[in-house]
Amino acid sequence: DKGLEKTKENLFSKIGRAVAGKSKVDDEVLDELEEILITSDVGVDTTVKIIQRIEERVAQDKFMNTAELDRILRDEIAALLSENNTEDLADFEIPENHKPHVLLVVGVNGVGKTTTIGKLSAQFKAKGKSVVLGAADTFRAAAVDQLKLWGERVGVPVVSHGMNTDPSAVAYDAVKQGVDTGADLVIIDTAGRLHTKVNLMNELSKIKRVMQKFIPEAPHEIMLVLDGSTGQNAFIQAQEFTKATEVSALAITKLDGTAKGGVVIGISDQFKIPVKYIGVGEQVDDLQVFNKAEFVDSLFK
Ligand code: GDP
Repeated sequence: DKGLEKTKENLFSKIGRAVAGKSKVDDEVLDELEEILITSDVGVDTTVKIIQRIEERVAQDKFMNTAELDRILRDEIAALLSENNTEDLADFEIPENHKPHVLLVVGVNGVGKTTTIGKLSAQFKAKGKSVVLGAADTFRAAAVDQLKLWGERVGVPVVSHGMNTDPSAVAYDAVKQGVDTGADLVIIDTAGRLHTKVNLMNELSKIKRVMQKFIPEAPHEIMLVLDGSTGQNAFIQAQEFTKATEVSALAITKLDGTAKGGVVIGISDQFKIPVKYIGVGEQVDDLQVFNKAEFVDSLFK
């Protein structure tokens, strides 16, 4: 699994080094483990939780060898990761009476929203699903252009009104086009401004309100995109966005270029929102459905 290679090497090979030459888990090993987890961006709260659980096991069994530590750590991490209830939308059989399935994508600029939408569109299309994109990130010309580029590349229509237009009008037209053309999915790219929570909240509320004129249940999914290489910033963004709107799924990008895959563990534990997709590169194929077992394996291989 090329994408997670770096995460694996940097996160848990460190644990191997920390326990090298030791036969039992002692305070020194635990201190080092704590430091490794924190520097891997697991986050303080989740790290403390993991260390406490291991201390309890050591106290209970009076002794833990370092080989056992790996196995227990693997169990503890698996328990903290969000449940693997994240069916790939590409395989999702959308009931006729709820087409199009509307996916609203949120997140701050630069995290990989547009790229993730492009990759998703390609995957959906490859599985025979029709997609309409809405360029509702109207505050940056580059964002609209980039989405259009992805649309051309992948061969899906992009609804756009250009820069500085009303994002909710774009969302309205995109959902309308989705309904009119019988599309399977409509994906709306939004602006990721976090300047003020109230603005963000109002903007997203308005976008939701207009699409509900066509489909009362829309958006069916609100996916927050986080950059996995930004550590604590990703936690802060998750905090801000979950305060401003409900978030039903996460996409964590840029896990290819980081030693900090621990973000996935910490965010799963702190926010209890399923991680649905992970980004592992810039190319169209570099988006994977998050698989908990595979992820844990990649950390310990
Ligand atoms: P947006 O502002 O949130 O829409 O972010 P973009 O989609 O424009 O992405 C910002 C940059 O991150 C671009 O250069 C992308 O190619 C890059 N990017 C997005 N996802 C990934 C990923 O999973 N891995 C890597 N290495 N780069 C990514």
